[in-house]
Amino acid sequence: MKFKLHQFNKLRGRLGSLSDVERLPDFSMDTPNIFLYTTAGCIPNLTYDVLQKITTNVFPMQYPLNTLYRITEAIKLYKKALHSFVGQPEYVSYCCIQDPLYSFPRRKHKLELFTLNTIGGIEFISYEKYMEIMEDFQPDIYVSPSDCDTSIFSSTKRTCNSVNITNRWFENVYKIHESSPILKNKGLIAAVAGGYDLMLRERCAKYMSEFPVLGYLIDGLFTDEIAAHEVPIDSVMKIISHTVNFLPEERLRIVHGSWDPETVLKMVKSGIDIFDTSFPILNAENGRALLFNFDVPNLLDDDVKLRLHGEENGVKEETSIENGDSDIVDQQGSGDNPKKFKSSTSANRGNTKIKCENRFSIALKDTRYFDDLTPLMENCSCLTCEKHTKAYIHHLLCTNELLAPVLLTIHNLHHYIEFFRKIREHLKKQL
Ligand SMILES: [Zn+2]
Repeated sequence: MKFKLHQFNKLRGRLGSLSDVERLPDFSMDTPNIFLYTTAGCIPNLTYDVLQKITTNVFPMQYPLNTLYRITEAIKLYKKALHSFVGQPEYVSYCCIQDPLYSFPRRKHKLELFTLNTIGGIEFISYEKYMEIMEDFQPDIYVSPSDCDTSIFSSTKRTCNSVNITNRWFENVYKIHESSPILKNKGLIAAVAGGYDLMLRERCAKYMSEFPVLGYLIDGLFTDEIAAHEVPIDSVMKIISHTVNFLPEERLRIVHGSWDPETVLKMVKSGIDIFDTSFPILNAENGRALLFNFDVPNLLDDDVKLRLHGEENGVKEETSIENGDSDIVDQQGSGDNPKKFKSSTSANRGNTKIKCENRFSIALKDTRYFDDLTPLMENCSCLTCEKHTKAYIHHLLCTNELLAPVLLTIHNLHHYIEFFRKIREHLKKQL
């Protein structure tokens, strides 16, 4: 697996490509781009066949270990790789630790073990165990085990420990990676810890930059107490912009999480190459269709505001549900930082429901769509918009039919893929 940086500008972003996957010689993907979010080995709401109809591009699949932990023994017995076990052998497989849409209360950490919040409960795993699992999974790319379970609420002491442990583990992890006949030709991504502390980020990034890895994951930005899209953008950007200064330009940079599209644009300009598709999936599971208009001449300007299609002409969409089932649900976080969340529908992740109200999408359960016979978006070429109306999707949501999130996922993924295509187009003109 190789990453090639073609063009870059420290203030405007980068253009590169991923290629040279040993078992998939035809694979090549331009960056900035996406990895397809999966949970338990599949893209939520989509079958393999439907995915083929959304895009013919073979995007890498992002497999979070916490959603696959209970089948690790089965995969060991299976003796073939994870991508074969889940029936997606022609896709590049990328293993990471935590599902960016899972949310759990904070747990106590154990020395020399990292926390894995699995569907079956909490697991504490050593880096040696994690590397054994990776040998069984045989992913094309994988993230190094790290103690990055931090967020904006984490104390300096906790964040400092997180960096100390992550750095200490990595040296041993790298030795295992290099000596393993299965892993040594796979792409290793070093997780950069440091939470929201600039000095700790710098320390971890400088340490990781000494190793010849495929790339870096800027981790520990939001896990467990607050969802990605709830973190103040300025705080996130301060960390991202500072951290990338200490990472080698020629290596890949990844950020996980359901960041809104304007934050994604800021991250692209800061030099991030890879994002995941948790944002479009989360919106679909909340009954929402992404309708932000990225077809604007100033897409990469500092002051760009992405509006909903139609809003430019004075038609303003409200994002809240007038007659839905909004309610205050569960508590995310624990201890000193309780946080109440409001959820529009039931996007269950972990043991909480994650809120997803934003100005980049519309809530189809709103009564205004009861008799709206137009497609989700005029001129959209996705399967959903070609065949269905807002009124039908509104009806499906009101009757709790599973087809509603399916149709919304089809549109949202299509929209998000096109968004990244447009980003690369703009970068080509501006770099
Ligand atoms: Zn569409």
